[in-house]
Amino acid sequence: MIMNEQVRELTSITSGLPTTDGDGVKMTRLIGTPELNMLDPFLLLDAFESDQPQDYIGGFPSHPHRGFETVTYLLAGRMRHKDSAGHEGVIEAGGVQWMTAAKGIVHSEMPEQENGLLQGFQLWLNLPKSEKMNDPAYQEFSVNDIPVDRLENGSEIRVISGQTNQGTKGPVINNYVNPIYMDITLPAGQQFEQTLNSSDNAFIYVIEGLLSVGELQKTITNREMGILGNGDQVSVTAKETSRFLLIAAQPLNEPVARGGPFVMNTKAEVLQAFEDFQNNRF
Ligand code: FE
Repeated sequence: MIMNEQVRELTSITSGLPTTDGDGVKMTRLIGTPELNMLDPFLLLDAFESDQPQDYIGGFPSHPHRGFETVTYLLAGRMRHKDSAGHEGVIEAGGVQWMTAAKGIVHSEMPEQENGLLQGFQLWLNLPKSEKMNDPAYQEFSVNDIPVDRLENGSEIRVISGQTNQGTKGPVINNYVNPIYMDITLPAGQQFEQTLNSSDNAFIYVIEGLLSVGELQKTITNREMGILGNGDQVSVTAKETSRFLLIAAQPLNEPVARGGPFVMNTKAEVLQAFEDFQNNRF
């Protein structure tokens, strides 16, 4: 490595808070909890994983969003989404829906299955003040649209957003916070390295396995999320065959006013969102 590189270390680990949302969907909330309210620009991260239909069958019936983006990434199962702008589709395993709610959308997200495993993530990314009242937009990609780096050491990097050290770029475009969203599978003993902007906030979430992170080799295990501290390099070694997400983006450093499904810069803007929603102005 060159001298001015600094490897990011794990600064904190959370296993989140078991919770339910929507119509009784069981999940673990990793970001958006009393323990970790946000990691600018990330407002929320939910992990859901169950093969018990009663844990997910209720889905997320009609609800609004304003002021940010919701990113759904499915590892297993099928989810149908439908919204007030006439957009409808099904996300399948390996697919991603990157929805820019901006000034407002009312949508539903329902499991398209009555049994079997449903597993995936929902991440909320904040929008800068200047973009919160834009028209809503979608970027949707199925498993075949998402490029995969297959390295000689047997590791695989699925690139939803951002660019790998090998030069592979994910299909999602976001010029607000330039996010990195990668899904990495590492055989036991192998190492993953990725360059990040030193100003990015970054974290990993371990889907399965056991990882050792940075030069301090702090370990993190399955279903844990770890925040990565200062630096411009990520270095992760699999202590057993592992799969994890690496997510990073530029912080906005703007005031955040939250009100359930609305995230604005001031309380008055959140109240306006409630009023607009109640008066069918979405
Ligand atoms: Fe939603």
